[in-house]
Amino acid sequence: MISNMQHTINDTVTISDIGLHSGEIITMKLIPAAENHGIIFIRSDITDGDNVIPALWNNVVDTKLCTVIGNKSGAVVGTIEHLMSALRGLGVDNLTIEIDGAEVPAMDGSAMPFVEAIEEVGLKTQSLPKRAIKVLKGISVENNGTYVHLTPDSKSSFAGEIEFEHGDIGYQRFETQLLNGNFKHDIASARTFGFFHEAQWLRSQGLGLGGSLDNAIILNDDGVMNSEGLRFENEFIRHKLLDAIGDLYLAGGQVLGLYDGIKAGHSMNNAILHELFSCDDNWEYIDLPISQTKSKQTLLEGDLVFA
Ligand SMILES: [Zn+2]
Repeated sequence: MISNMQHTINDTVTISDIGLHSGEIITMKLIPAAENHGIIFIRSDITDGDNVIPALWNNVVDTKLCTVIGNKSGAVVGTIEHLMSALRGLGVDNLTIEIDGAEVPAMDGSAMPFVEAIEEVGLKTQSLPKRAIKVLKGISVENNGTYVHLTPDSKSSFAGEIEFEHGDIGYQRFETQLLNGNFKHDIASARTFGFFHEAQWLRSQGLGLGGSLDNAIILNDDGVMNSEGLRFENEFIRHKLLDAIGDLYLAGGQVLGLYDGIKAGHSMNNAILHELFSCDDNWEYIDLPISQTKSKQTLLEGDLVFA
């Protein structure tokens, strides 16, 4: 059953895996939550202070290697973007995420393991409509040749492009809309990627300790090092959109607008939300209409439905 009502999940889901940067095994519980609760992380290993961190744009404290959110007491959780992307893609509005470490488990470097874990318990339709953030006028942020443009659109649309000198990447552009199951088909399984020399440097800094060919595409001068190859020819730009979908969900709801990221990363994704919310003329809240008229067969969970 599909609707523009808010959703949580039917039952608690427990997920464990290595943390990309710490190299430690981290356990995370996704727990159903009530209407208008939003997405909230709780650091269950912190017992002597505030361990609650709402997944919101103005709680982002670092964007260098991944998106990190934190609270005033200094509790942080990082690498949230692939999980946030899965929650946006599936249309999960309300969730408590108990986690016993400072980063979300790496899984395979994509959002698909989170999608599959949530689909095992299924989504629960709740009693209030989804509240979206509607973009009212075009805004942009720019930094050193990278851009994000956000413009009005009746749907949640994501586009982006990257250009790397590496022959296996080159120039890639991809566009999608979060409807008709596009997220799961086109985005969710695209893995994060990095270069072998960068991975070596990160390790020398005590970071990326959990990174491996099991949870990232690694490239060296000869090409893709993963023996299984790529999941899509343009897996790299699809992953950049996966990141953008997760980062934009920190708006506190789905954004109705067209995101277009040019060589953009987590820092630019957060910058465009700061720009969006810097002026009341840029946006407004809308309750999504409750559709009675669409054919259920053509719709999937998480789709945006308009009557
Ligand atoms: Zn990513």
